[in-house]
Amino acid sequence: MVFPGSAHLDDPGPEEPVEDWGSGDWGPPEDLGPEESAPSDWETAQWAAGGGERPKTAEEALNRIFGYDAFRGEQQSIIDHVVSGGDALVLMPTGGGKSLCYQIPALVRDGVGVVVSPLIALMQDQVDALTALGVRAGFLNSTQDFEERRVVEAQFLSGELDLLYLAPERLKVESTVQLLQRGTISLFAIDEAHCVAQWGHDFRPDYLALSALHERWPTVPRIALTATATRTTHTEIATRLKLEDAKHFVASFDRPNIQYRIEQKNEPRKQLLDLLRSEHAGDAGIVYCLSRASVEKTAEFLVANGIEAVPYHAGLDARTRATNQSRFLREDGLVVVATIAFGMGIDKPDVRFVAHLDLPKSVEGYYQETGRAGRDGLPSTAWLAYGLQDVVQQRKMIDTSEGDDAHRRRLATHLEAMLALCETVECRRVQLLKYFGQDSTACGNCDTCLTPPESWDGTVAAQKLLSTVFRLDRERRQKFGAGQAVDILLGRKTAKVIQHDHDTLSVFGIGAELNESQWRGVVRQLLAQGLLAVQGDYGTLVLTEGSAEVLGRRREVVLRRERERPARAARTRSSSSSARKAEPVDLPAEAVPVFEQLRAWRAATAKEQGVPAYVIFHDATLREIAARAPSTLAELSAVNGVGENKLAKYGQQILDTLNA
Ligand code: ADP
Ligand code: ZN
Repeated sequence: MVFPGSAHLDDPGPEEPVEDWGSGDWGPPEDLGPEESAPSDWETAQWAAGGGERPKTAEEALNRIFGYDAFRGEQQSIIDHVVSGGDALVLMPTGGGKSLCYQIPALVRDGVGVVVSPLIALMQDQVDALTALGVRAGFLNSTQDFEERRVVEAQFLSGELDLLYLAPERLKVESTVQLLQRGTISLFAIDEAHCVAQWGHDFRPDYLALSALHERWPTVPRIALTATATRTTHTEIATRLKLEDAKHFVASFDRPNIQYRIEQKNEPRKQLLDLLRSEHAGDAGIVYCLSRASVEKTAEFLVANGIEAVPYHAGLDARTRATNQSRFLREDGLVVVATIAFGMGIDKPDVRFVAHLDLPKSVEGYYQETGRAGRDGLPSTAWLAYGLQDVVQQRKMIDTSEGDDAHRRRLATHLEAMLALCETVECRRVQLLKYFGQDSTACGNCDTCLTPPESWDGTVAAQKLLSTVFRLDRERRQKFGAGQAVDILLGRKTAKVIQHDHDTLSVFGIGAELNESQWRGVVRQLLAQGLLAVQGDYGTLVLTEGSAEVLGRRREVVLRRERERPARAARTRSSSSSARKAEPVDLPAEAVPVFEQLRAWRAATAKEQGVPAYVIFHDATLREIAARAPSTLAELSAVNGVGENKLAKYGQQILDTLNA
């Protein structure tokens, strides 16, 4: 689906949203009959499958239902605010714990919490995860047939649900609105709220209609949540959802357990393979590529090299996509190679790495994609390989993109911020957080902190390159890109050099002190610093105002020294980052086989029940069990992530596994 002026237009993919947004399958308003329209009776409705009681306070819900001992960050104040009926706009990074912010108020308040989410394909898993906790949840979307929907509608009306997930387009259907009006609603949660931002890359037109919710239900609190948080997006969400009067909660965007690394692209697939073999053998992860073709090739390459990998992009048929996504969620240690069509709402907690083989188009996108790693708080890697070709290609895409000048300028600003992040000699995390308006200090857990890059005085090299570009530019007859400039500097008599008499230029062969990849690095860094620009279809190099300053010796150029083989960053889980929280439980050597046994038990149980393994227990919970080796149910219940329902259901099996 393409909208004029929307960012979808210039996606290289061109990727469509993963879901089919057709809403014509909903049929005429359905009459549920008088016997089902009776108001819900919350006092008598039996709560939870295990027959437990509805929690009375947020703390009780946290401890008893979810099995956690303490709220994280701002969770408590957000939850208190919504429980008492207030509207909230929540900005929290991926993995920060947004779901509890609406799930707990929905449990504590009377009525059903209605969750609006664009992620139809994930609703079943979300409902399964809640059901495993003993929470009564259902969804209504276009994947269901009439009978399935009718059952959920009846549950909703008779007060047998705590949470109801809805796709946004449902709310445009009058019969859904009527249904909701006949039940009791505890709150509206608007998940992935940045989908309302028209300039964002995830814009969903159906989100615009959500501004009408508070007119229909003026007394029902609304909580909008997103992990996308630049100031512009934030403001746009508040305005479009009419949440100006809501209380805004902006969490720290730091993800201390993710190690950020950006390296120079040489042989990207081989670099990726090295990373996977040396640091992430057997781990689940996501590899992002810009085009469908490179997704396919990369997936094949990994498989050929013994790594279990599947492709995912909007060009695959819906069934293959669904299968690959579901395998990723359900199996341990699968790699998905994907375009950015993949990932929103994927809340698999144990994604150990996110790798980018191409430069993302914005810091926002990069942060969102890398944020899918390590939701469980355990050490994870965000790795990006980028090179000159990325810069040239992205400039070209911007120059040829549809939309007006303002749109192109915006894209260019996004690209520049991304380049600045790639070329920084400072802490990546500091730079990232600064982009989201948050101050921090050097993190000790990114490549620039771990192996500080050296810089060198590149003024003379820059002058040589810029003079070459100046001479090529004077010819005007034909446009030349970086390749030709580098060949000239290196004094190579290629066919193209001879054809254009470039071996007679005064700059021919003046750059022998650097090799080809170093020269390409110089070009790339000058582009990133705005001291050089590219134009048009062939990536023609052109001078900028900044170039003139360098050529006129009015400006020095500091460049980052490129490593031929970037040193592997060490794992520093116990490093000094002050923001570090949620330290994972360290697994003593003797507990490792126990952990593996628990994982095997979990895999078998998950398979039997047809749910993802993490729905049973997260890795972090299994680690803690393995480390503590509880011998009674009471001891087991003290482990983070073991709530009453899971204790009742799996407690004995866990103890048996430990004693086996
Ligand atoms: P988000 O939606 O913000 O990306 P989630 O709601 O999926 O994040 O939470 C991320 C992970 O953290 C989940 O595995 C969740 O169970 C866990 N989590 C959330 N809140 C807490 C808490 N207070 N204590 C322990 N774990 C938590
Ligand atoms: Zn750092």
